[in-house]
Amino acid sequence: MPVLPEIVLSSRNAKKIGEIAELLAPFEIPVIGVQDFPDVPEVEEDGDSFAANAAKKASAVATRLNRWVLAEDSGLCVDALGGAPGIHSARYAGEQGKDAANNEKLLAALETVPNEKRTAYYVCYAVLSDPQGNIRLESEGRCHGRILREYHGENGFGYDPLFLVPEYHQTFGELPAAVKRHISHRAKAFERLLPQIVRLFASLSSSRAL
Ligand code: IMP
Repeated sequence: MPVLPEIVLSSRNAKKIGEIAELLAPFEIPVIGVQDFPDVPEVEEDGDSFAANAAKKASAVATRLNRWVLAEDSGLCVDALGGAPGIHSARYAGEQGKDAANNEKLLAALETVPNEKRTAYYVCYAVLSDPQGNIRLESEGRCHGRILREYHGENGFGYDPLFLVPEYHQTFGELPAAVKRHISHRAKAFERLLPQIVRLFASLSSSRAL
């Protein structure tokens, strides 16, 4: 097994970092959070897709630090709202990362939408950038569900207390973190990406390009 270079995780969302760190653990990929580099500025998420935002977050941090960087962009797409809040999920109600206000806005937007039309899915787009800012690997994961009319549970973050996972008859707010870790959009994106990272590093290491 080659010695893997440390990968910087380009996220400042503590809940997200926790979920990603748990997904990475079995692969023994050493990671460090971008918050350990105080000089790295926030990256503006002004792309027009999850893929563009993930690539921007990864490349900007990679070139700044000259390190391998893993980034993801994620959000909630609601069918009855034409895919909104989508890439604007974190700042749906205006201010970045205000979960309670975002959830209230979502409930209001769906007030007249009948239960069977409240379908939605989470998307996670994950990418790996090399130290020069080139995107070397990418992967998308989705998780389908339905938006409830009331909050259920306090686990997870963001829209989780409103997001019903039909197979489990519970929201991500109610389901244990261990279950979310297996079935979420983030789990699906990283499940595909992580073995590819190990293979890429193995091949670069054998050709002495690491
Ligand atoms: P990002 O940091 O720009 O990728 O924004 C992600 C936003 O999408 C979060 O702030 C949440 O509003 C929403 N989101 C993404 N993944 C999840 C999840 O697993 N649970 C709940 N909300 C999520």
